[in-house]
Amino acid sequence: MRKNRDLNKLQPSFRQKVEAFMKEAAPLHIFITEGWRSEATQKAYYAQGRTTGGAIITWLNGVSKKSQHQLGLAIDIAFDKKYYGTLYPSNPKLWEQVAVIAKKHGIDWGYDLWQKDKPHFQDDGKAVRGFYEDVFFREYGGKSSLLSDTDGAFAKWDGMTERERLSLILILMERAASK
Ligand SMILES: [Zn+2]
Repeated sequence: MRKNRDLNKLQPSFRQKVEAFMKEAAPLHIFITEGWRSEATQKAYYAQGRTTGGAIITWLNGVSKKSQHQLGLAIDIAFDKKYYGTLYPSNPKLWEQVAVIAKKHGIDWGYDLWQKDKPHFQDDGKAVRGFYEDVFFREYGGKSSLLSDTDGAFAKWDGMTERERLSLILILMERAASK
């Protein structure tokens, strides 16, 4: 499975954070191993250890449970083998140094979130609402009135794409939570 490292596939707001983060972390000699991930790749990862060989590496099936990578809001990193002799050094201080820089740029560390997955870094969430609104407006023809007309929005449910539905639900959930 080929890993996608194209920063242009990330959400623009997250890509800016990643670029600033990678620039500041350059003296630590890290690089990106994977950014955006297709549904097919996520499904293949999910199959590993379940229907194919190897150890289980994810609990996200790529469909009902999507990875932040699929949304263009996560990257995985490794250290340059030339300097460390390994891609994933065991020295926790190295990873912590990277995480401190990431945090400054609005990026959370997988290990802080789940006490595992050290190579994983993802958007700290502040941009997520903007991202879904952006997707919704773009894919739903900019009909912003639907956002204040819940019944109207759900009446169109059958004609909406999966992304539009997801956007709508997340926007409405966030609204409900902030009330
Ligand atoms: Zn990851």
